[in-house]
Amino acid sequence: MTNIEVLPIAFARDNYLWLIHDGRHAALVDPGEAAPALAALHERALVPVAMLLTHHHADHIAGVGEILARHPGVPVYGPKEDEIAAVDHPVEDGDRIALPALDLTLTALDVAAHTRGHVAYHGDGLLFCGDALFSAGCGRLFEGTPADLERALARLAALDDDTKIYCGHEYTLANLAFARAAEPENAARDQYAARCEALRAEGLPTLPSTIAVEKEINPFLRPDAPGVVAMIAARTGTRPANARACLAALRAWKDVFVS
Ligand code: ZN
Ligand code: FE
Repeated sequence: MTNIEVLPIAFARDNYLWLIHDGRHAALVDPGEAAPALAALHERALVPVAMLLTHHHADHIAGVGEILARHPGVPVYGPKEDEIAAVDHPVEDGDRIALPALDLTLTALDVAAHTRGHVAYHGDGLLFCGDALFSAGCGRLFEGTPADLERALARLAALDDDTKIYCGHEYTLANLAFARAAEPENAARDQYAARCEALRAEGLPTLPSTIAVEKEINPFLRPDAPGVVAMIAARTGTRPANARACLAALRAWKDVFVS
């Protein structure tokens, strides 16, 4: 176990980039804006040793150029399939990213669905998953299919229960409103929602979540739950044939859901 801390850096309306550091060195996950990342490095006198990108969307990568201008030569990891110009270390499923300065090794997990090449980075009980999985929700299907989403979420759900989830957005409360509609009766979810509302009222992040929590409260990880199946059946007029069909219907509903 390494001696690292993971800090959220909030920017734009609801984005997080994550600063993984040991007091001397740092890795930045999804630096969509340079200024807050550079300020966080400067304040703590941290030397950046890597940037890790989960997918090609601008709100996850737009700060890379300016950070490189200030810190030349920092390696930039990102999914090969997403063909990000700034990436000089393209990664694919199973690739290991050794960060010896942080005594940390992360493994790239192919979780493509939101984008064609989306990866998550996993290691040491930490999961950096960009827009693949959110607390109480998941990313939109911009480039993938429901089958891709099913596969991606199954991979993440299979990680250890105590894995901490650091995702790309503070969408938790809005996702919980949808979760309540999709699965009205879920006491664990209601308790979690109360905790998250209290955190947000104080301006604090609801993240990290954990795999254990998400399996209990996130409808997208519960397409087999009787309450979810019943709600999809009532909404669409047909009982979903299987978990994938239920997941597809959930995702399509969330796309148009107004709380
Ligand atoms: Zn995205
Ligand atoms: Fe995003």
